[in-house]
This record gives sequence, structure tokens and C-alpha cells, in this order.
Amino acid sequence: MCLCILAHQLVLTHPNIIAANREEQYDRPTDAPSWEGQIFAGRDRIAGGTWQGVNALGLHVALTNRRDKSLDPDHRSRGQLCTDALRHASARSARDWLLDHLLHVRYNPCNLLLSDGIDAFCVQYDGQRARPETLGPGLHMLSETDINDDAHPRIQRARQALAAHALQWPELRHELAALMGQHTAAEGGICLHGQRGGTRSSSLIALGQQSVRDGQFYYAEGPPCKAAYVDLSTLLQQPI
Ligand SMILES: [Zn+2]
Repeated sequence: MCLCILAHQLVLTHPNIIAANREEQYDRPTDAPSWEGQIFAGRDRIAGGTWQGVNALGLHVALTNRRDKSLDPDHRSRGQLCTDALRHASARSARDWLLDHLLHVRYNPCNLLLSDGIDAFCVQYDGQRARPETLGPGLHMLSETDINDDAHPRIQRARQALAAHALQWPELRHELAALMGQHTAAEGGICLHGQRGGTRSSSLIALGQQSVRDGQFYYAEGPPCKAAYVDLSTLLQQPI
């Protein structure tokens, strides 16, 4: 379970803005984002893949697992699928590759959010079939159900909180940072603290048109209600 918010073509200087909270079990070891080849991403030390990354051409990919009870442990890891999608030059080519690849290789159910400065897509995969969706300019939200699922409590809460959001990056970043650390007593908390798992990290990312040269990446290693966002932008702007 994760929550990703995409601001696609809303902010002139940074047409590709993403805020994401990652939920995972507390004891699953992971590495903070760094460059490996052309991909800047955090890594899961068990399966080796990633849940979110950016490549040197400014493509962002985020993965959320879909709500499903029948997981097949023999399938290839979804984190690997996310890493493979990040090897593409654009959101469009990553989408086309995914739609073809998912005809031939089985994974457990997941969603992939693909965005660059020009296009944004969500590929929703139920374990058998992939459904692509093209996303227009605006705010888009994804958790463990369909994209922009307005019945989802976390998405409802995020939409409400961002109803009158800023249209400039530093201001929007502050609004997103405040939102990602919010709690509620009922369902719909944005920052989660479960018994065995919860929000392990949070990212606020702003990307320009076609590269990471003017990109910004803020990363909280821990639940964003407590952990401060650290500025990784200098690291992001210097691909290997
Ligand atoms: Zn919290």
C-alpha cells in the first residue's frame, strides 16, 4: 500500500511533480535513493527492485501494489518491473513496453504511474490484464486501487486538502510536505503507523521537461510526521 500524488502540467517550471508515501513492513531492508546507471531510485534489498524512481531523461515511475489476497510467490517481483520501466526514454515508450510485456510475463497485481514533462499514464494490472489510462493536466492520485478512486479514504482526504493548492513549486512543496505527514483517527490518514508496517519513507519530487538537470528531490527516511525531508537535489542533478 502506498500513496502517490501527481501534479501533471500544473506548475509551469516543473510540469512533473510527485509526492509519495511508501508503506512497507518495518523490518524489510531498503536503501535510500541513489544513482545506479541511469536510474535514481531507492532499492528493496530483498527483491532488488524499486517502488519509485527517476531516470536521467526525467521519466518518473512509481509502483503501487493492488489490493489482492491471492499472491503468487513464484511471479517475478513487481519492483523489478518498475526498474525495467525506468529504462525507457519517455512515459509513452515505458507505457507501450509495459502493455506488451504484461501480455507475456505474469506479475502479482499492481499499478504503475508513468510521467514525464509531456505525458502521464497509469497502467493498472490485475494479474492477468493491463488497463492503461491517459492522464490529462491536473492532480492525480493513486493508492492500491484504481487511479483517482474517489471512494478511497486517503484519496478523498488528499483531494480535500489540496482543493486550493498553490501553482508554484516551493509553495506546493510545503503544502505537500504538510499533507504527507497528516494523521486521522479514522481511515484516511496520509501517514500510517501500523503494528508491523507503516509509512517508511516519503518523497517530494519536481521535474522539468526532459532531464533531471533542474530537478528537485526531497526525501524523508521515515514517516514524514517525524522525519525531516532531506534535499537530494544536488545528487539528482548529477547523473553518473
Ligand atoms: Zn506519521
